[in-house]
Amino acid sequence: MTPVSDRNHRITFQRTPQGLPVPEDFGADTTPIPTPGPGQFLSRTVYLSLDPYYRNVMKGSQIYAERLKPGDTMVGETVAQIVESRHTDFRAGEFVLVKNGWQEYALSAGQGVRKLDPAVAPVSTALGVLGMPGLTGYTGLIYLGEPKPGETVVVSAATGAVGSTAGQVARLVGARVVGIAGSDEKCEYAVRELGFDACVNYRKGDLVQLLKAACPAGIDVYFDNVGGDTLAAVLRNLALHARIVLCGMIESYSMDKPPPGPFLGPVVGARATMRGLVVYDHLHRMDELVRVVGAWIRADKFRYREDMTDGLANAPSAFCRLMQGRNFGKTLVRVSAEHS
Ligand code: NDP
Repeated sequence: MTPVSDRNHRITFQRTPQGLPVPEDFGADTTPIPTPGPGQFLSRTVYLSLDPYYRNVMKGSQIYAERLKPGDTMVGETVAQIVESRHTDFRAGEFVLVKNGWQEYALSAGQGVRKLDPAVAPVSTALGVLGMPGLTGYTGLIYLGEPKPGETVVVSAATGAVGSTAGQVARLVGARVVGIAGSDEKCEYAVRELGFDACVNYRKGDLVQLLKAACPAGIDVYFDNVGGDTLAAVLRNLALHARIVLCGMIESYSMDKPPPGPFLGPVVGARATMRGLVVYDHLHRMDELVRVVGAWIRADKFRYREDMTDGLANAPSAFCRLMQGRNFGKTLVRVSAEHS
């Protein structure tokens, strides 16, 4: 195979966008088409994946390995066809999944490259449903969401690569699936084509109420691709023991400062789990507490402190002190003597 032009066109990172990205944040130039050295191959980009996380890479977010400085080729996953190979494992003509970035040609030494068989599926799917976004939707839903047949699963950005995968996987494991999307056309696609049971258009009305109507028994699993107001509306409709998969927060990617309220981005970066706790669910463990912690107290391995106020009449002021945070330790009122 021979290159179709004698120059490599590429799009470069120019500057960090202010708010939503604009074309001026990027540059464009050409470079010579490189020649593979021993152990390398040259490939021609066929498909370039555009993913929301690039916006975060452009602002230097630490959770991504990619770093960009002005003039660098924009990063990105690609499906490419090998033009010339001096690598023993790769041959000219083969399709590969490789990180060429936003350019027509690139060299690779084969690290992290996946060969693609056009007979298995269209090669473009390696960047979508059979690639990173598909894996995100599939594994996030199955292993973090743990949906059960009959449960209600809600997915935002429902028609995107990640959301459409998560939603269809939920349907195929027997859950009732409700999408959240930004237009009637997207919602219709989610229901008609993807087989969702319902889909609400958040641009048409109050999302809290729309979800309440679409999920009368509450939401058992929420697969969040958006964050912000969408997540806030879902939180008002949770069923008992609901699971929330924090996958993406696209609403905030183009914001210069984190949005008000607790910013949950670090929860994703840290792969953290947030769970609600109601002590009454654990009352059967009371004997265990008394046995275990009681023994620690008697062995002087465990300390406690009491903030004692004498006299019932002083209870109101003690309570007010507690609510002002001026108590120090377990706040108690000694109403009468322990030993009379
Ligand atoms: P999509 O194709 O779903 O495109 C993004 C969609 O987000 C838009 O089409 C839009 O759909 C919706 N959206 C909602 N609010 C906004 C907003 N304020 N600005 C822009 N778009 C908005 O993208 P992907 O399927 O590639 O990714 C979906 C999410 O998954 C992203 O948040 C991404 O960062 C995340 N992700 C996370 C990974 C992980 O490892 N945790 C890996 C891969 C992706 P609509 O109009 O329907 O609202």
